[in-house]
Amino acid sequence: MRDILPAEQKYFMYLRKAFETAAEQSGFNRIYTPTVEPATLFERTVGKSTDIVEKEMYAFKSKSGKKVALRPEGTASVARAYLENGMTSWPQPVKLYYEMPMFRYDRPQAGRYREHWQFGVEAFGEKSPLLDVTVIALALRAIKTAGLSETSLQINSIGCPNCRPKYKRILTRFLKENEKELCADCKRRIKTNPLRTLDCKEKKCQEVTEGAPQMVNNLCNTCHEHFKVILEYLDALDIVYEINPRLVRGLDYYIQTVFEIWNERDGGQSALGGGGRYDGLTELLGARKVPGIGFGLGADRIVAAMMAEKVEIPEGTGLDVFVVQLGKEAKKKCFKLMFDLQNAGVGAEGSIDKGSMSAQLKMANRLKVPYAIIIGQKEAYSDTVILKDMDSGCQEIYPQDKIVRELEKRISKLQR
Ligand code: AMP
Repeated sequence: MRDILPAEQKYFMYLRKAFETAAEQSGFNRIYTPTVEPATLFERTVGKSTDIVEKEMYAFKSKSGKKVALRPEGTASVARAYLENGMTSWPQPVKLYYEMPMFRYDRPQAGRYREHWQFGVEAFGEKSPLLDVTVIALALRAIKTAGLSETSLQINSIGCPNCRPKYKRILTRFLKENEKELCADCKRRIKTNPLRTLDCKEKKCQEVTEGAPQMVNNLCNTCHEHFKVILEYLDALDIVYEINPRLVRGLDYYIQTVFEIWNERDGGQSALGGGGRYDGLTELLGARKVPGIGFGLGADRIVAAMMAEKVEIPEGTGLDVFVVQLGKEAKKKCFKLMFDLQNAGVGAEGSIDKGSMSAQLKMANRLKVPYAIIIGQKEAYSDTVILKDMDSGCQEIYPQDKIVRELEKRISKLQR
């Protein structure tokens, strides 16, 4: 787990804004869920034999002896919240987004943390493939707005409970015929989770599965049609994708659509985010079947990619004005004015220490504020201030009781 310091924060916040804007503009509403949940929530949904639950879940006993877990991913928690808060009776689809830390007891390595942030969405109550397209387009828009260009969309269909068992049998037969060539993990996976052999990182396994039968060629009519419509609409939106038969995602609850967004600058070595459809998830939680689709973007990884690509974050500290003061009386007025400005929603900073006028103006320059207010001894006694436009250098005198309103007006114009 790590500290995220100011230098990285500016990228985090920029990404967060891009993601929030994309989510809000597509009609998603924000949700946060608790950090700690019963471990069974994830065992029942993500799946007991998945890496996330089997190897990586931060599970421990609480004081009362209950097995709890730090949330390893968002979908299961948000689905639980959807059911527990009666959202099934809201107008559907219910579209939610979140920015939450996730916890995985993984081997710490570059780009993998035990606490990482995911920005994600979940949409419940709509089966249409157009919702899949909406969600995929939203993820891509967020990443693009954050300034990343060298990414790819990887997509696959992993079928449904109707067609996947048959495909699993076909794949298992193929894997058994080639068992000798597989790594120890994949030998075990033939029995526990044969689909996971397809995304094994071992070269020798990849060589074997290169020739494996593919799920997309074994889909039932419903899944085939669903996938076809998605691809047609992605084409219509000029969204470039790669159908990737190895993409299975490691979680039990996915059906049909699975997708990931890869960073192509490192040759697709790290997924920036991923998601998929999970129509059976609510049933795993003991409720009736509600269709759903979502994704999680790995904010830490995206930020690392933004920094590597040297994405330019527009300058701006959130400060609109620097209040400069000279003299004891002016200092008191300056301090009061700073707070009045802040209460009015104007970002204001000032030198609370002594310092010459030029030192203070230098500070204002460094902070790149569009305005400075100057209160010298003369202004302090005449209840006036000097307003300086930092770009043009132009100075005007205002009565002290009018300056807050004047800056409010100017700042709202700037923001427009
Ligand atoms: P997943 O659902 O496991 O594919 O996670 C979604 C995204 O979160 C991934 O594509 C990564 O970008 C990010 N992610 C997952 N695990 C970690 C981790 N341990 N550290 C940092 N980022 C992670």
